[in-house]
Amino acid sequence: MKLKENFYFCNNCKKIVDDPESLYFVESVIPRGFCSEICIKEFYGPIVDYYEKCEDDLRKKYKCETENLSDFISDPSFLEKLFAEPDEIWRNQNSLGEEVFSFISKFDGEMDGTFYLASLCLVFENKPSFIFLVTATKEVSLLNEFRIGKELENLEEFLKNDGGESGSDGQISSEVFETIESKKSAFLASLLEQRSSKDIPYEDFYCYDIFMEDTLEGPDEVYTERDRDGDDLFTYIKAHEKDGKSFYYFVICMNIGPSIEEAGDTILPILGFPSQDGDTYNSYRKGKLISGNLKS
Ligand SMILES: [Zn+2]
Repeated sequence: MKLKENFYFCNNCKKIVDDPESLYFVESVIPRGFCSEICIKEFYGPIVDYYEKCEDDLRKKYKCETENLSDFISDPSFLEKLFAEPDEIWRNQNSLGEEVFSFISKFDGEMDGTFYLASLCLVFENKPSFIFLVTATKEVSLLNEFRIGKELENLEEFLKNDGGESGSDGQISSEVFETIESKKSAFLASLLEQRSSKDIPYEDFYCYDIFMEDTLEGPDEVYTERDRDGDDLFTYIKAHEKDGKSFYYFVICMNIGPSIEEAGDTILPILGFPSQDGDTYNSYRKGKLISGNLKS
């Protein structure tokens, strides 16, 4: 046996792997890798408990223990706004460089008045990657406790910049960006409306983000159709397995036309999501089936 120059291990179960690509990462600054979703949950589980205890103590301090707004937390559309279009993001870094982020959003409910959602989470490639805590409150003094560290100044810029992996990000015009955002909202709304309650819960979608790249690079099926705005959409579908369960991952993409750098058209992902439901699978297999890899 020879000692390896490069070797990696799961930070939870210590399983040894040859390739960092087979590990999952949820933090940007400290490269802690994990072999599975289960190991991520086990590793951070005690921190989740710690933050829940903190919330209980703070609610006692501000006399809002009985405030029960949990309906707002279970509503995917509120969570989508909190994580995709927050009003505030705060970054708190300790002296070791470890980061925890606070996402905060204000909502004006017609019946319910103004309330806030606040979350403590980890962020990887500028997107929430592991959620420690989400709470809903109308109590501003409790909300203020979530404002820790430094508030980020340019949220749109931060959320748009996902580490620059896809390469063409820098060249998208704000017009295209807006089109994509509005299509994304429409797709997400119809997806959430039609999907079965037994399917993978919306709040777990972020755990499946890692399957997007693989789905785009080696799809089982790709469908294309032109939408009402005259844009060419592509649906990439691939069967995957995670923690012993199989599911489909879908990526809806849009052709935004030729790019400056490349000769062919640029196809950008709009929305990626997992599903274990056969009905959802069938409903997204529409348009013209085309084979092969279309990633430009
Ligand atoms: Zn592990």
